[in-house]
Amino acid sequence: MEVLYSSTRNGDKKVTASQAILQGLSEDGGLFVPDHIPVLECSMKELAGKTYQEIAYQVMKLFLTDFTEEELKNCINRAYDSKFDTEVIAPLVEAEGTYYLELFHGATIAFKDMALSILPHLMITSAKKNHVENEIVILTATSGDTGKAALAGFAGVEGTKIIVFYPKNGVSPIQEKQMVTQKGDNTFVVGIHGNFDDAQTGVKQLFNDRELAQEMADAGLQFSSANSINIGRLVPQVVYYVYAYAKLLEEGKVADGEKINVVVPTGNFGNILAAFYAKNMGVPINKLICASNENKVLYDFFVSGKYDRNREFMLTSSPSMDILISSNLERLIYRIADNDAGKNSEFMTALSQNGSYQITEEMQDKLGDFYGNYASEKETADRIKDMYENTGYVLDTHTAVASAVYQKYVADTKDTTKTVIASTASPFKFTRSVMNAIDPKYNEMSDFELVDELSKIGNVDVPNAIEEIRTAPVIHDNVCDKAEMKAVVKRFLGIHA
Ligand SMILES: *Cc1c(COP(=O)(O)O)cnc(C)c1O
Repeated sequence: MEVLYSSTRNGDKKVTASQAILQGLSEDGGLFVPDHIPVLECSMKELAGKTYQEIAYQVMKLFLTDFTEEELKNCINRAYDSKFDTEVIAPLVEAEGTYYLELFHGATIAFKDMALSILPHLMITSAKKNHVENEIVILTATSGDTGKAALAGFAGVEGTKIIVFYPKNGVSPIQEKQMVTQKGDNTFVVGIHGNFDDAQTGVKQLFNDRELAQEMADAGLQFSSANSINIGRLVPQVVYYVYAYAKLLEEGKVADGEKINVVVPTGNFGNILAAFYAKNMGVPINKLICASNENKVLYDFFVSGKYDRNREFMLTSSPSMDILISSNLERLIYRIADNDAGKNSEFMTALSQNGSYQITEEMQDKLGDFYGNYASEKETADRIKDMYENTGYVLDTHTAVASAVYQKYVADTKDTTKTVIASTASPFKFTRSVMNAIDPKYNEMSDFELVDELSKIGNVDVPNAIEEIRTAPVIHDNVCDKAEMKAVVKRFLGIHA
């Protein structure tokens, strides 16, 4: 059955999947949502034993109904290939009786690769399907992880260019090195004097600049976004939850139909929403456990039904979860408001005007699938140390938040359901925090000394993504002021006023 997409803020206009991918965000500021969540056509038993790519096809074809089989398989095969350092793409590792779904085996060793390695292919296929002749220019502001994953995904993809702005002094040294060494002559990386918000605001202004849009169109170019609210990022994330269950079944770790819990370290609410979609497609999932760090807006929301961003922004050791506005939550709000775009719009207006909204009791009753909790900085560090001492397995800071929250969940509920924890980054990406948690003595070492030490104590090879940047030459040394962003973009695109 065909799936069409409409905005969470206006249900009238429906677009196809490829149109939603090209557009990213709806004109009214809403997010595209499918008109229904399709149910899996194969049983879990039939999926057990299938490869990641085969399961990706079975899941994605149900959402992206205007893609042909050939188009979709082509996208999948180009995305999930030797860029990943393991053939299984997303391995499940058992530790302390729980299953860690490692989503960090792609090009940039964080879970963003799971979606950003396929998004460029979905996008150029969508452009072709909709007879868009322009070259697609991806414009992104990043606080670290997304920028590199988007660069790696779009590098060398014909018909696209990518421009990434990052705060010059606001990312980790390893993150910066990862970006400025990016190869591919369709890539462009610029540090700006300012913080992430400045970069983000500047990018939004460029997106809304009509004069620039016209100049771009004259040059055969148009902007698009690789932002995490794009449906082309959400759909590929549903795949690994289906895959994880199929794998557990294949290995006899669960009986057919036996329910599992899923724990997700959450920021923008994209990853956990994908797990919720997987549950609705028919994967036997019991609770969806939403793990936050000290920026615990979501925990408070699940407890009280009030979403309130009016609070201090905390800088934590799990920076990819340092978020006060979880954009993808809007898709859940829309759903528990019975797909009522008008009602959802009211909440979102309240959020932008007052920084908060309170959902009704009736809506709160529909959140029974979810459990929220959070871990402090100390609890996170202790979890890394305890896990390492108990098992030798080294968790990254984000995954440690999830693991600590899972312990709280078990203490609260005594629920012994088998559990999968989404492991969202390699510990090599956040080496200093991870090593300090294991032993403060490591703080004296340089970044790359820490990398080698982690490899030794964790008994894991240094990932390629890190090995590469050790000696890679700096290719991008552009730095600009916020006010210069437009000029810089025009120069890169060869547009001369
Ligand atoms: C982006 C990110 C998250 C948060 O995922 P959301 O989909 O934004 O909730 C968690 N961990 C890591 C390592 C990330 O890069």
